[in-house]
Amino acid sequence: MIIIGGGPAGYTAALYTARANLNPLVIEGFNWGGQLMITSDVENYPGYADGVLGPAMMSDFRRQAERFGAEFVTDDVTSVDFSERPFRVHVGSDEYRAEAVIVATGASARQLGLSSEQTLQGRGVSYCATCDGAFFRDKVVVVAGGGDSAMEEATFLARFARRVVIVHRRDEFRASPIMVDRARANEKIEFVLNAVVEEVLGEAAGHVTGLRLRDTVTGDAREIEADGIFVAIGHDPTTALFLDWLDHDEQGYLVTEPRSTRTNITGVFAAGDVQDHTYRQAVTAAGSGTMAALDVQRYLEEQRHEREVTAASV
Ligand code: NAP
Repeated sequence: MIIIGGGPAGYTAALYTARANLNPLVIEGFNWGGQLMITSDVENYPGYADGVLGPAMMSDFRRQAERFGAEFVTDDVTSVDFSERPFRVHVGSDEYRAEAVIVATGASARQLGLSSEQTLQGRGVSYCATCDGAFFRDKVVVVAGGGDSAMEEATFLARFARRVVIVHRRDEFRASPIMVDRARANEKIEFVLNAVVEEVLGEAAGHVTGLRLRDTVTGDAREIEADGIFVAIGHDPTTALFLDWLDHDEQGYLVTEPRSTRTNITGVFAAGDVQDHTYRQAVTAAGSGTMAALDVQRYLEEQRHEREVTAASV
């Protein structure tokens, strides 16, 4: 069996399937580890009572799967062919075949696309208030975006932060009115509209110290002080390779059967953020990887049973 993707879902599926003697091959991607590789401290993964760095946690996940015999290809899948079994998975000119596939390629937070944003990731630039909000107690934070996520993150952050500034590029919101009203009613939250973040300041200090904003109407620039910025401008699932094969919603997230990780193709399963845009936590992705591993295990058992019945009847 093949697992495509090396994040919490993929490695957990690898751990379970390796321990079930299913010899998983994890095609983990050139940049394995997923979204946790751009996080610093993780304090909400159960079992790490003292917290853990995101990349260290992903190394632990990988090592645990390896200990039970999972094998890894540290490269990106370039195409798949799910038209018949065994399924074919290509990495450049190499072809791998499997009776079952788990797709666990995750999603990625959209970035603003600034080099200062890259440099300061995990040093005040964050993409997840649930994960990092508690580090900003009594601080000033900016939330970039005007959708439901931005409103939700700002409202959540206001529990910790001294002040939350929502910076949105227009003066109308994509967010639902009720979410905007909730943010507006919160006295810690203020809005800067018609503005884009042009630069995250603080590279010399090694952490975020402020932002340079550009007014989209007047073109004027100004700097504001801030201890952190939460970029909440949406997520994109990593599903381009699968869209021709697997059912997906309008945003590209793979659709699985309720209470299962089965996709529309028998023998192909999906786990983690690639099929979940609601919870998006490492622990829920790991749980979903476990579900996929158990679904694969049952599926392969059924296949073997069918073959034995067929063989006995001829
Ligand atoms: P979204 O609805 O796509 O909103 C993205 C926001 O970011 C938009 O306001 C957009 O501005 C802005 N944006 C995009 N690219 C930008 C850029 N490069 N620079 C500056 N701003 C940029 O994404 P989302 O808020 O993550 O929500 C995704 C889905 O999840 C939605 O369907 C949403 O309803 C749902 N959701 C629901 C809840 C809830 O109900 N509790 C909570 C969170 C999310 P423009 O408006 O100008 O395009």
